Amino acid sequence: MKRLNQKRIYISSPHMSGNEISFIHEAFETNWIAPLGPHVTAFEQELASYTGAAAVSCVSSGTAALHLALILAGVERGDEVLCSSFTFAASANPIIYQGATPVFIDSEASTWNIDPELLEKAIQDRWARGKKPKALIVVHLYGMPAQLDRIVDICNHYNITLIEDAAEALGSKYKGKQVGTFGRMGILSFNGNKIITTSSGGALLANDPELCKKATFLATQARDNFPYYHHTHIGYNYRMSNILAGIGRGQLRVIDQRVEARRKIFFSYKKFFAAFPGVTLLEESDSSYFSNHWLTTIVMDPSKTSVTPDDLRLALEKENIESRPLWKPMHLQPIYKDCPAYVNGVSEHLFAHGLCLPSSSSLTDEDFERVTHCIQQVFQKG
Ligand SMILES: *Cc1c(COP(=O)(O)O)cnc(C)c1O
Repeated sequence: MKRLNQKRIYISSPHMSGNEISFIHEAFETNWIAPLGPHVTAFEQELASYTGAAAVSCVSSGTAALHLALILAGVERGDEVLCSSFTFAASANPIIYQGATPVFIDSEASTWNIDPELLEKAIQDRWARGKKPKALIVVHLYGMPAQLDRIVDICNHYNITLIEDAAEALGSKYKGKQVGTFGRMGILSFNGNKIITTSSGGALLANDPELCKKATFLATQARDNFPYYHHTHIGYNYRMSNILAGIGRGQLRVIDQRVEARRKIFFSYKKFFAAFPGVTLLEESDSSYFSNHWLTTIVMDPSKTSVTPDDLRLALEKENIESRPLWKPMHLQPIYKDCPAYVNGVSEHLFAHGLCLPSSSSLTDEDFERVTHCIQQVFQKG
């Protein structure tokens, strides 16, 4: 029987700081409820200074930001765009919005992100077939930075526009620099489950302020500078509202605490799982990597333990605790089955043997106790 008398523990819930409400009040008092407005501009500046990006454009979602990034990279019908296979579908869907074809690349075992060697092989193979991929969407999954040095070099060498999907990785760093700022463009998400949230929202980061200007123009229906409505481009209604930007400003005030809390949860799980052979966590492989540990994720080695991720998931669910399999790779998704894919078995293995655990920054010691107690019991029975 499911124990619904116990409070549900989620994988990742919104965690308000209390600052947000004063920014919302300010928007109400000035009647600045419409999109655009002073909170949006301020949130963009604050995000730029936090991440080190040259410019930021705030939009309605991470998906919208990726769509705009592809448009700005000049991706058109018939083009090919390289993309991490091990990710959420929102990383790849905007490629289809542009009428382009995604080419999926599998992961490396150390970061779970794009395997640079396989990436280079894939590009050479595409070239040999007379195709020159225009852009690469590299994902920093679960907050873990991809191997950016190698990936930046490869993109430069083959003249490919690098777009970083840092939706899950705000606050993560590679060699001391925030992810999302290595590529020509990067995107963030402020969806309800991310490390900070505006309830829904996203941002485009760019190393060239001109790109953000263009993104903002396209996101506000591409209205040219005339007294009447005059259009020379197809526009989108992708702008972030002033109220949501106010929430974002309140959230950004506490980003360092949120990163610290998620990292602390990760290290607590790491200590806990040390007692169980066959369980490994997604860890920073060396000091080049600093993960925000958005989610703590485990993989279970079937040759070392008879307990499966599904055993854990079902036992947790009975205790009203949420957990979830890892992302199902894009090359295994029915909708993407006909797209070119360069695979090495890594993401399939992770999908088959992995699990995401409750990792909210608001997770209490008592919650953590409930989660680990339940897991411990499964292992004792197994
Ligand atoms: C959440 C997420 C997105 C999409 O962001 P939205 O704001 O929900 O549109 C894109 N990529 C990854 C990896 C994500 O986790």
